[in-house]
Amino acid sequence: MSYVIEPAKLAVLDVKGTDAKFPVRRVYCVGRNYAAHAIEMGSDPKREPPFFFCKQADADCVVAVPANACIDIPYPSLTKNYHYEAELVVAIGKDAKNISVADAKDIIYGYAVGLDMTRRDLQATMRERGRPWEIGKAFDYSAPIGEITPIEDSGEINSGNIQLSVNGKTKQHSDIRHLIWNVSEVISRLSELFELKAGDLIMTGTPEGVGAVITGDTLVASVQGLASITIKLTSSSS
Ligand code: MN
Repeated sequence: MSYVIEPAKLAVLDVKGTDAKFPVRRVYCVGRNYAAHAIEMGSDPKREPPFFFCKQADADCVVAVPANACIDIPYPSLTKNYHYEAELVVAIGKDAKNISVADAKDIIYGYAVGLDMTRRDLQATMRERGRPWEIGKAFDYSAPIGEITPIEDSGEINSGNIQLSVNGKTKQHSDIRHLIWNVSEVISRLSELFELKAGDLIMTGTPEGVGAVITGDTLVASVQGLASITIKLTSSSS
């Protein structure tokens, strides 16, 4: 097999305890999945069905952040309000459609910490006009994701601290148990909309405390029991 152009690089994530990598297929994201964050975004926190959007799954959008390392992330173009969103990321290890809530954990490969980086000003403009969110959510370097811990090591995650700091100051601090739709419910619902496949990632939503960051800021995101991730924002010219 030959290609007429060089094929795009596959995004791959580190896996705890092995040199083998996790190949990324798709990146699904859940919107407003913590009540206190829904409120800060001006939305009603009542338990409506979860809603989803996607990020690109290529190696330019999904950035693997090794454990115990700090990765440079360029500040993106055309925004003046670039936000962090710390999230629990679920890595899917088996194909499934229409999977029940009770069986959903069986297709989880593992978990990681991720950042749903967002051009909030562009997202807000698109939202107000009823337009798609891609320019606010799905751009290069917008999904830094850490090392995956296999579920055999972590156990099923339905609670535990989720935190984000900027330059050492805590900005987000909540608990996974505050998810409006827990991981199994999210997987079950998503599998009705799309056939899930091994390699898919699900960013499960961010708690309250989102805010803007600027060039030079260092962000650390963590979830109890998983490898935390550290990124530093660099000038967009790099
Ligand atoms: Mn998010």
